[in-house]
Amino acid sequence: MTQKSQKLIDGLQEARLLKDSLIPRIKAVRERGVVPTLAAILVGDNPSSHVYVASKCRQSQEIGIKPVPHFLPADTSAQTLFELIKKLNEDPRIHGILLQLPLPAHLDARPFIEAIDPRKDVDGLTLTNMGRLAVGSGGILPCTPKGCLRLIKSVIANTTGLHAAVVGRSHLVGNPMAQLLLHAADCSVSVVHHLSRAPERLCRHADVLVVAAGVPGLITPQWVKEGAVVIDVGITQIEKEDGSKMLIGDVAFDEVLPLVRAITPVPGGVGPMTVASLLENTVELAESYGMS
Ligand code: NAD
Repeated sequence: MTQKSQKLIDGLQEARLLKDSLIPRIKAVRERGVVPTLAAILVGDNPSSHVYVASKCRQSQEIGIKPVPHFLPADTSAQTLFELIKKLNEDPRIHGILLQLPLPAHLDARPFIEAIDPRKDVDGLTLTNMGRLAVGSGGILPCTPKGCLRLIKSVIANTTGLHAAVVGRSHLVGNPMAQLLLHAADCSVSVVHHLSRAPERLCRHADVLVVAAGVPGLITPQWVKEGAVVIDVGITQIEKEDGSKMLIGDVAFDEVLPLVRAITPVPGGVGPMTVASLLENTVELAESYGMS
């Protein structure tokens, strides 16, 4: 086995294990007459968003979750979108509502996220669920941070008291990741962003480093402690000289690899776990359906 394969955290494999574990839970829910159902709303023509929604729907179907996609044109009005969310909130057959981001420029995402019933907020992005996360009291967890934590736990079973650093403070990834590491993983957490002074100094003391900046190659060996576990959330599509496209992460992978205990690749690391966590959240919502 090469040094590289020994150190790689295989997100595809972890996602497969998670999805397999959902199958008996879905069967049990279906046996009580509930079909776990995920509504996905996509507004506009963003090609990446179409690929993501198609993949989420296909993977739902593969394990027995019913996907209900809603494709709306790019010029959809705020009123139409609010009405659709309201209809889905009131529909007892729908357990999770996914609003694919980004929305077209004329629609500010926050009011629409807030319009989703927190009990159907499969992405864990409403203020209610984010507030629960901030005080460490349950709720539905945002999918990407939830998936990252699972990848970290696949390498370090006991994270109590470790120093974790998160690069990025977005509502979608960085901020909830930091909260999750603080409360669910019992780490001490440093959060680094684009205004941080000497960010590499904070990061190179971290046992666990999660990077979600969207800046390819940002993380060089100077940012990384020897023996750290590194989770690269960043995804940037670049065009190669021959015109073909490829995805790269935020970590200068080849330079950092010799230092780390374990690291996620891009692609094949965090991405598959994000989708698997979405499916897990859908199952959790279907399981709790009718309980509250
Ligand atoms: P964002 O643009 O909303 O936030 C980026 C964050 O990085 C900001 O908080 C910013 O302060 C910080 N940052 C930017 N430049 C920095 C620098 N030089 N040093 C330190 N911090 C810096 O992005 P986001 O939505 O949080 O996504 C981040 C990345 O993760 C993107 O590449 C995105 O495509 C990717 N992503 C991947 C998945 C997945 O499933 N793999 C899911 C969501 C996002």
